[in-house]
Amino acid sequence: MPEIFANYINGEWVTRPATFEDRNPASTDEVVAVFVKGSAQDIEDAAAAASAALSAWSNLSGPARGNILYKTAEILDRRFEQVSAEMTREEGKTLPEARGEVRRSINIFRYFAGEGARLPGMLVPSERDRVHMFTIRRPIGVVGLITPWNFPSAIPAWKLAPALICGNTVVLKPASAAPLSAWRIVEALHEAGVPKGVVNFVAGPGAELGDALVSAKPMKAVSFTGSCQIGNWLHEQASKRRLRIQLEMGGKNPTIVLADADFDSAVENVVNGAFFSTGQKCTATSRAIVEDAIYDRFVAALVERTKRLKVGDGMRPGIDIGPCVDQAQMEVVLKYIDIGRKESGEPKTGGRRLTDGALAKGYFVEPTIFSDVKEEHTIAREEIFGPVLAVMRAKDFEDTVRIANNVPFGLCSSIQTTNVSRVFEYVHRAEVGLLTVNLPSAGVEYQLPFGGTKDSSFGPKEQGPAALDFYSDYKTVYLRY
Ligand code: NAP
Repeated sequence: MPEIFANYINGEWVTRPATFEDRNPASTDEVVAVFVKGSAQDIEDAAAAASAALSAWSNLSGPARGNILYKTAEILDRRFEQVSAEMTREEGKTLPEARGEVRRSINIFRYFAGEGARLPGMLVPSERDRVHMFTIRRPIGVVGLITPWNFPSAIPAWKLAPALICGNTVVLKPASAAPLSAWRIVEALHEAGVPKGVVNFVAGPGAELGDALVSAKPMKAVSFTGSCQIGNWLHEQASKRRLRIQLEMGGKNPTIVLADADFDSAVENVVNGAFFSTGQKCTATSRAIVEDAIYDRFVAALVERTKRLKVGDGMRPGIDIGPCVDQAQMEVVLKYIDIGRKESGEPKTGGRRLTDGALAKGYFVEPTIFSDVKEEHTIAREEIFGPVLAVMRAKDFEDTVRIANNVPFGLCSSIQTTNVSRVFEYVHRAEVGLLTVNLPSAGVEYQLPFGGTKDSSFGPKEQGPAALDFYSDYKTVYLRY
């Protein structure tokens, strides 16, 4: 019998009769965990508990809050293998990928624990004699955190840790497709001694809980990562209540490949960016924009490399690509492959659901490459969020930049070139929040700001020192002595 995981409200593990299953997308007859299905009332209770806990938590010293985050990191580190394997079983990414993500969550907790001893303010000279001017950071209050399934540990970590170190109290609503990884963080916070009410966790259906969360009276801010559709809706609701809001949403990330690129490494970087984690990273490459001079040779090499990728259960050694997270996501991917066939022709490789042997029990889709995709084609414009790459031909550098920027999204981008002038020119002209050079588009670290521009994002950036700007307010002090 799979274990039943309760919600965490006001320091108590709260159960209810209604539950939902967390299934393994690589083998759908395996129930990884059963979760208590939270209700709007649970969100209200959680927000009230967070409100009651706020004063004591925010008045604790920063280093004291940091100590709880350090302990949380240590507890997660002790359970590293267990938590990583659970992530593979609930989300489908390969075990090495899951280990990388759990390591990142641990590092995020350590990084923001350290911020507790800094929480930098400003100290500037006054124009007046004997006046001292400075700022201190104050928390914003109760914060709602809504997270997606694709980084089920790292995204909750990169919202929880800065929110808590700044002295806020939180209500976390994880994605229903993969709630266990976030639950493990909350369990670790509980064991690390976080005071009751400071952290609350309510799993359950997004539409019901999301509405309750954004409407809960004590709520002062919401940080959301997920689709544009839900993010835009939340933005409207939050604006009505003047909640502070941070949205990280979809993308249509390009990788530009110039003719002077290191050819083999560019092939590796595009394949890695497009297909690892089953293309389900917000920073995944979904368009490869390749200069005409090397286009045909590059497509041939991409196809040859992609055909060697091994698709299967991410718990097995040697597997490169796991399943789509659930049936709905797989159907979205297959729908876009159909659209691609109609608009751009037969894919150069892939294009099918895989159902041979044990694969039939999971949501596996072949890594798929369409070539000569035009800018107006649907698969060059809309987010797919799966293992599908649109390769596009560009006349020259100018053309690659124009095509790359010609979408409403602006999360991230990548350029492959050995020409340093082009690198800097692209750094300035890319309409994105982050970009990589001669690396895969995906693979960011926690020490620098993360987030996009245009329709991909709204509000201050996450991670690194920038995260403090969302989770705290300046109080400015003028003092005559
Ligand atoms: P999603 O469907 O928007 O769900 C995200 C979260 O919102 C889940 O917890 C979901 O709960 C919840 N939710 C659903 N309906 C809601 C509502 N009406 N009000 C409030 N919350 C609601 O996104 P997803 O499918 O989990 O994730 C994939 C998307 O996330 C992609 O578009 C991807 O690009 C984006 N993403 C962006 C970034 C970034 O940093 N820019 C990072 C990762 C992912 P349920 O699970 O219960 O439905």
